[in-house]
Amino acid sequence: MNKVLVSGGAGFIGSHLCEALLNQKKEVFCIDNLLSGRKKNIENLMENKNFHFLQEDVNFFVFEEKVNEVFHLASLASPVDYFSKPVETMLSGSIGTKNLLDLAVKNKAKFLFTSTSEVYGNPLEHPQKESYYGNVNPVGERSCYDESKRFSEALIKSYEKQFGFKGKIVRIFNTFGPKMRIDDGRVVPNFIFQALNNKPLTIYGSGKQTRSFCFISDIIDGILKMMNSDFLGPINLGNPEEYSIIDFAEKIKKLAGNSPIEFKSALSDDPEKRKPDISLAEEKLNWMPKISLNNGLKQTIDYFKEMNNF
Ligand code: UDP
Repeated sequence: MNKVLVSGGAGFIGSHLCEALLNQKKEVFCIDNLLSGRKKNIENLMENKNFHFLQEDVNFFVFEEKVNEVFHLASLASPVDYFSKPVETMLSGSIGTKNLLDLAVKNKAKFLFTSTSEVYGNPLEHPQKESYYGNVNPVGERSCYDESKRFSEALIKSYEKQFGFKGKIVRIFNTFGPKMRIDDGRVVPNFIFQALNNKPLTIYGSGKQTRSFCFISDIIDGILKMMNSDFLGPINLGNPEEYSIIDFAEKIKKLAGNSPIEFKSALSDDPEKRKPDISLAEEKLNWMPKISLNNGLKQTIDYFKEMNNF
Protein backbone atom coordinates (compact mmCIF):
# COMPACT_ATOMS: atom_id res chain seq x y z
CA MET A 1 0.00 0.00 0.00
CA ASN A 2 1.15 3.51 -0.79
CA LYS A 3 2.24 5.30 2.41
CA VAL A 4 2.01 9.06 2.44
CA LEU A 5 3.14 11.72 4.90
CA VAL A 6 1.31 15.05 5.10
CA SER A 7 2.85 17.78 7.26
CA GLY A 8 0.28 20.34 8.39
CA GLY A 9 -2.31 17.61 7.91
CA ALA A 10 -4.69 19.02 10.54
CA GLY A 11 -4.77 22.44 8.89
CA PHE A 12 -7.34 23.76 6.45
CA ILE A 13 -5.77 22.51 3.20
CA GLY A 14 -3.92 19.62 4.87
CA SER A 15 -7.04 18.02 6.34
CA HIS A 16 -8.80 18.07 2.95
CA LEU A 17 -5.68 16.58 1.37
CA CYS A 18 -5.54 13.76 3.96
CA GLU A 19 -9.19 12.94 3.25
CA ALA A 20 -8.62 12.87 -0.52
CA LEU A 21 -5.58 10.59 -0.11
CA LEU A 22 -7.53 8.21 2.14
CA ASN A 23 -10.24 8.10 -0.54
CA GLN A 24 -7.52 6.93 -2.93
CA LYS A 25 -6.89 4.07 -0.48
CA LYS A 26 -3.52 5.37 0.66
CA GLU A 27 -2.17 5.04 4.20
CA VAL A 28 -1.80 8.56 5.56
CA PHE A 29 0.52 9.83 8.30
CA CYS A 30 -0.66 13.27 9.34
CA ILE A 31 1.97 15.37 11.16
CA ASP A 32 0.80 18.54 12.88
CA ASN A 33 1.88 20.48 15.98
CA LEU A 34 -1.63 22.01 16.18
CA LEU A 35 -0.26 25.56 16.28
CA SER A 36 -2.80 26.61 13.66
CA GLY A 37 -4.19 23.20 12.70
CA ARG A 38 -7.07 21.69 14.70
CA LYS A 39 -8.05 18.20 15.76
CA LYS A 40 -11.60 19.09 14.79
CA ASN A 41 -10.52 19.17 11.12
CA ILE A 42 -9.47 15.53 11.20
CA GLU A 43 -11.96 14.04 13.64
CA ASN A 44 -13.91 12.53 10.72
CA LEU A 45 -10.72 10.68 9.67
CA MET A 46 -9.70 9.27 13.06
CA GLU A 47 -11.82 6.11 12.70
CA ASN A 48 -10.13 5.19 9.42
CA LYS A 49 -7.53 2.47 10.06
CA ASN A 50 -5.34 3.93 7.30
CA PHE A 51 -5.11 7.30 9.05
CA HIS A 52 -2.46 8.05 11.69
CA PHE A 53 -2.23 11.38 13.48
CA LEU A 54 1.10 12.36 15.06
CA GLN A 55 1.20 15.56 17.08
CA GLU A 56 4.77 16.51 16.23
CA ASP A 57 6.77 19.54 15.19
CA VAL A 58 7.93 19.24 11.61
CA ASN A 59 11.31 20.78 12.51
CA PHE A 60 12.31 18.15 15.03
CA PHE A 61 10.40 14.96 14.50
CA VAL A 62 12.11 11.72 13.55
CA PHE A 63 10.11 9.32 11.43
CA GLU A 64 11.09 5.69 10.99
CA GLU A 65 8.18 4.52 8.84
CA LYS A 66 8.93 4.05 5.13
CA VAL A 67 6.84 6.39 2.99
CA ASN A 68 6.39 6.76 -0.78
CA GLU A 69 5.16 10.34 -0.89
CA VAL A 70 5.77 13.44 1.25
CA PHE A 71 3.54 16.53 1.09
CA HIS A 72 5.00 19.46 3.06
CA LEU A 73 2.19 21.88 3.92
CA ALA A 74 3.05 22.78 7.53
CA SER A 75 3.10 26.55 7.87
CA LEU A 76 1.30 29.46 9.48
CA ALA A 77 -0.44 30.71 6.35
CA SER A 78 -2.74 33.45 7.62
CA PRO A 79 -1.15 36.91 7.91
CA VAL A 80 -2.58 37.33 11.42
CA ASP A 81 -0.95 34.03 12.47
CA TYR A 82 2.44 34.68 10.93
CA PHE A 83 2.54 38.30 12.16
CA SER A 84 2.24 36.96 15.71
CA LYS A 85 4.59 33.95 15.31
CA PRO A 86 7.22 34.97 12.74
CA VAL A 87 9.95 32.72 14.13
CA GLU A 88 7.84 29.55 13.99
CA THR A 89 6.86 30.58 10.46
CA MET A 90 10.49 30.96 9.39
CA LEU A 91 11.44 27.59 10.88
CA SER A 92 8.71 25.42 9.33
CA GLY A 93 9.67 26.91 5.96
CA SER A 94 13.40 26.24 6.43
CA ILE A 95 14.39 23.61 9.01
CA GLY A 96 11.05 21.85 8.49
CA THR A 97 11.58 21.74 4.74
CA LYS A 98 15.13 20.39 5.17
CA ASN A 99 13.92 17.74 7.63
CA LEU A 100 11.25 16.51 5.21
CA LEU A 101 13.51 16.69 2.16
CA ASP A 102 16.04 14.49 3.97
CA LEU A 103 13.27 12.07 4.87
CA ALA A 104 12.11 11.96 1.23
CA VAL A 105 15.70 11.43 -0.02
CA LYS A 106 16.23 8.61 2.50
CA ASN A 107 12.98 6.94 1.46
CA LYS A 108 13.38 7.68 -2.27
CA ALA A 109 9.90 9.16 -1.89
CA LYS A 110 8.18 11.73 -4.07
CA PHE A 111 8.11 15.21 -2.48
CA LEU A 112 5.75 18.14 -2.95
CA PHE A 113 6.05 21.54 -1.29
CA THR A 114 3.16 23.98 -1.03
CA SER A 115 4.60 27.38 -1.72
CA THR A 116 2.54 30.52 -2.08
CA SER A 117 1.58 33.48 -4.23
CA GLU A 118 3.32 35.54 -1.52
CA VAL A 119 6.64 34.65 -3.20
CA TYR A 120 5.60 37.35 -5.70
CA GLY A 121 5.26 39.87 -2.85
CA ASN A 122 3.59 43.12 -3.95
CA PRO A 123 3.75 42.19 -7.63
CA LEU A 124 4.79 44.61 -10.34
CA GLU A 125 3.73 42.10 -13.00
CA HIS A 126 0.06 41.27 -13.43
CA PRO A 127 -1.23 38.58 -13.61
CA GLN A 128 1.60 36.66 -12.01
CA LYS A 129 3.38 34.04 -14.08
CA GLU A 130 5.78 31.51 -12.57
CA SER A 131 8.64 33.22 -14.40
CA TYR A 132 8.12 36.45 -12.39
CA TYR A 133 10.78 36.85 -9.67
CA GLY A 134 8.57 38.88 -7.33
CA ASN A 135 8.79 42.08 -5.35
CA VAL A 136 9.31 41.08 -1.71
CA ASN A 137 10.44 43.25 1.20
CA PRO A 138 13.02 40.99 2.88
CA VAL A 139 12.71 42.74 6.27
CA GLY A 140 9.00 43.58 6.30
CA GLU A 141 6.23 42.09 8.42
CA ARG A 142 5.45 39.46 5.77
CA SER A 143 9.05 38.48 5.15
CA CYS A 144 8.89 35.59 7.65
CA TYR A 145 6.32 33.93 5.42
CA ASP A 146 7.42 35.12 1.99
CA GLU A 147 11.13 34.55 2.48
CA SER A 148 10.79 31.17 4.19
CA LYS A 149 8.69 29.96 1.27
CA ARG A 150 11.25 31.38 -1.16
CA PHE A 151 14.04 29.74 0.86
CA SER A 152 12.22 26.40 0.68
CA GLU A 153 11.85 26.70 -3.07
CA ALA A 154 15.58 27.47 -3.37
CA LEU A 155 16.44 24.56 -1.05
CA ILE A 156 14.39 22.14 -3.16
CA LYS A 157 16.20 23.34 -6.28
CA SER A 158 19.55 23.00 -4.45
CA TYR A 159 18.75 19.37 -3.55
CA GLU A 160 17.97 18.80 -7.23
CA LYS A 161 21.25 20.36 -8.36
CA GLN A 162 23.48 18.74 -5.76
CA PHE A 163 21.80 15.37 -5.14
CA GLY A 164 19.62 14.92 -8.23
CA PHE A 165 16.56 14.79 -5.95
CA LYS A 166 13.44 16.03 -7.76
CA GLY A 167 11.03 17.87 -5.43
CA LYS A 168 7.87 19.52 -6.73
CA ILE A 169 6.69 23.07 -5.98
CA VAL A 170 3.13 24.42 -6.20
CA ARG A 171 2.41 28.10 -5.52
CA ILE A 172 -1.02 28.32 -3.96
CA PHE A 173 -3.05 31.53 -4.29
CA ASN A 174 -5.87 32.56 -1.90
CA THR A 175 -7.94 29.49 -1.09
CA PHE A 176 -11.14 29.18 0.91
CA GLY A 177 -13.72 26.64 1.99
CA PRO A 178 -15.04 24.57 4.89
CA LYS A 179 -12.54 23.84 7.70
CA MET A 180 -10.99 27.31 7.61
CA ARG A 181 -10.79 28.71 11.14
CA ILE A 182 -13.45 31.37 11.59
CA ASP A 183 -10.91 33.37 13.64
CA ASP A 184 -7.88 32.89 11.41
CA GLY A 185 -8.02 36.55 10.40
CA ARG A 186 -8.23 36.11 6.66
CA VAL A 187 -10.72 38.03 4.61
CA VAL A 188 -13.09 35.14 3.78
CA PRO A 189 -13.76 33.95 7.37
CA ASN A 190 -13.64 37.52 8.73
CA PHE A 191 -16.30 38.85 6.35
CA ILE A 192 -18.52 35.78 6.69
CA PHE A 193 -18.33 35.87 10.49
CA GLN A 194 -19.04 39.61 10.52
CA ALA A 195 -21.96 39.34 8.07
CA LEU A 196 -23.55 36.43 9.94
CA ASN A 197 -23.31 38.40 13.19
CA ASN A 198 -24.58 41.73 11.81
CA LYS A 199 -21.21 43.31 12.52
CA PRO A 200 -19.48 45.76 10.15
CA LEU A 201 -17.28 44.22 7.46
CA THR A 202 -13.76 45.46 8.19
CA ILE A 203 -11.92 46.56 5.05
CA TYR A 204 -8.19 47.21 5.56
CA GLY A 205 -7.02 50.18 3.49
CA SER A 206 -8.93 51.45 0.46
CA GLY A 207 -10.47 48.09 -0.46
CA LYS A 208 -9.19 48.60 -4.01
CA GLN A 209 -6.58 45.86 -3.51
CA THR A 210 -7.49 42.70 -5.40
CA ARG A 211 -7.43 38.98 -4.72
CA SER A 212 -8.54 35.86 -6.58
CA PHE A 213 -10.25 33.17 -4.53
CA CYS A 214 -10.07 29.45 -5.28
CA PHE A 215 -12.31 26.82 -3.69
CA ILE A 216 -10.57 24.12 -1.67
CA SER A 217 -11.67 21.12 -3.79
CA ASP A 218 -10.05 22.67 -6.86
CA ILE A 219 -6.76 23.23 -5.03
CA ILE A 220 -6.73 19.63 -3.73
CA ASP A 221 -7.35 18.40 -7.27
CA GLY A 222 -4.39 20.51 -8.50
CA ILE A 223 -2.05 19.30 -5.73
CA LEU A 224 -2.86 15.64 -6.47
CA LYS A 225 -2.43 16.13 -10.21
CA MET A 226 0.92 17.75 -9.60
CA MET A 227 2.14 14.88 -7.40
CA ASN A 228 1.12 12.43 -10.11
CA SER A 229 2.75 14.32 -12.98
CA ASP A 230 6.38 14.40 -14.08
CA PHE A 231 6.44 18.17 -13.93
CA LEU A 232 8.43 19.72 -11.05
CA GLY A 233 7.17 23.28 -11.17
CA PRO A 234 7.03 25.80 -9.69
CA ILE A 235 3.42 25.95 -10.83
CA ASN A 236 0.63 28.38 -9.89
CA LEU A 237 -2.62 26.97 -8.49
CA GLY A 238 -5.41 29.46 -8.01
CA ASN A 239 -8.55 30.92 -9.51
CA PRO A 240 -7.82 33.70 -12.00
CA GLU A 241 -11.13 35.49 -11.36
CA GLU A 242 -10.07 38.74 -9.70
CA TYR A 243 -12.09 40.85 -7.24
CA SER A 244 -11.39 44.07 -5.39
CA ILE A 245 -11.89 43.62 -1.65
CA ILE A 246 -14.78 46.13 -1.82
CA ASP A 247 -16.54 44.07 -4.49
CA PHE A 248 -15.83 40.94 -2.48
CA ALA A 249 -17.44 42.56 0.60
CA GLU A 250 -20.55 43.36 -1.47
CA LYS A 251 -20.73 39.72 -2.55
CA ILE A 252 -20.57 38.50 1.05
CA LYS A 253 -23.27 41.00 2.06
CA LYS A 254 -25.60 39.48 -0.56
CA LEU A 255 -24.88 35.91 0.49
CA ALA A 256 -24.46 36.10 4.28
CA GLY A 257 -26.03 39.30 5.63
CA ASN A 258 -26.31 42.99 4.78
CA SER A 259 -23.82 44.48 7.26
CA PRO A 260 -22.31 47.95 6.84
CA ILE A 261 -18.70 48.40 5.76
CA GLU A 262 -16.05 49.86 8.07
CA PHE A 263 -12.69 51.04 6.75
CA LYS A 264 -9.62 50.35 8.90
CA SER A 265 -5.97 51.19 8.37
CA ALA A 266 -4.08 49.21 5.74
CA LEU A 267 -1.83 46.30 6.72
CA SER A 268 1.87 46.77 6.06
CA ASP A 269 3.20 45.48 2.73
CA ASP A 270 -0.31 44.32 1.78
CA PRO A 271 -0.07 43.29 -1.90
CA GLU A 272 -2.13 45.70 -4.03
CA LYS A 273 -3.14 43.10 -6.58
CA ARG A 274 -2.97 39.38 -7.03
CA LYS A 275 -4.19 37.12 -9.80
CA PRO A 276 -2.58 33.94 -11.02
CA ASP A 277 -1.70 33.19 -14.59
CA ILE A 278 -2.61 29.49 -14.68
CA SER A 279 -1.70 28.70 -18.28
CA LEU A 280 1.16 26.47 -17.11
CA ALA A 281 -1.19 24.38 -14.90
CA GLU A 282 -3.64 24.11 -17.80
CA GLU A 283 -0.87 22.95 -20.13
CA LYS A 284 1.07 20.62 -17.81
CA LEU A 285 -1.70 19.26 -15.57
CA ASN A 286 -4.83 19.86 -17.60
CA TRP A 287 -6.03 21.67 -14.48
CA MET A 288 -8.31 24.63 -14.02
CA PRO A 289 -10.74 25.56 -11.25
CA LYS A 290 -14.28 24.24 -11.65
CA ILE A 291 -16.15 25.66 -8.65
CA SER A 292 -17.56 29.19 -9.01
CA LEU A 293 -16.99 31.75 -6.26
CA ASN A 294 -20.73 31.85 -5.46
CA ASN A 295 -21.00 28.08 -5.17
CA GLY A 296 -17.87 27.88 -3.01
CA LEU A 297 -18.97 30.72 -0.77
CA LYS A 298 -22.39 29.14 -0.19
CA GLN A 299 -20.73 25.90 0.97
CA THR A 300 -18.36 27.87 3.20
CA ILE A 301 -21.13 29.98 4.73
CA ASP A 302 -23.15 26.82 5.45
CA TYR A 303 -20.10 25.30 7.16
CA PHE A 304 -19.59 28.35 9.39
CA LYS A 305 -23.31 28.44 10.25
CA GLU A 306 -23.17 24.78 11.25
CA MET A 307 -19.99 25.21 13.30
CA ASN A 308 -21.18 28.25 15.18
CA ASN A 309 -24.90 27.51 15.48
CA PHE A 310 -25.97 30.91 14.17
N1 UDP B 1 -8.63 42.09 4.44
C1 UDP B 1 -9.59 43.03 4.77
N2 UDP B 1 -10.34 42.80 5.89
C2 UDP B 1 -10.19 41.72 6.67
C3 UDP B 1 -9.20 40.77 6.35
C4 UDP B 1 -8.42 40.98 5.22
O1 UDP B 1 -9.79 44.04 4.08
O2 UDP B 1 -10.93 41.59 7.67
C5 UDP B 1 -7.85 42.30 3.22
C6 UDP B 1 -6.33 42.22 3.43
O3 UDP B 1 -5.83 43.48 3.79
C7 UDP B 1 -5.87 41.78 2.03
C8 UDP B 1 -7.01 40.91 1.53
O4 UDP B 1 -8.15 41.25 2.31
O5 UDP B 1 -5.72 42.88 1.19
C9 UDP B 1 -6.75 39.42 1.66
O6 UDP B 1 -6.30 39.19 2.97
P1 UDP B 1 -6.12 37.74 3.58
O7 UDP B 1 -5.66 37.92 4.99
O8 UDP B 1 -7.33 36.91 3.35
O9 UDP B 1 -4.97 37.05 2.72
P2 UDP B 1 -3.65 37.56 2.00
O10 UDP B 1 -4.01 37.55 0.56
O11 UDP B 1 -3.29 38.94 2.47
O12 UDP B 1 -2.64 36.55 2.38
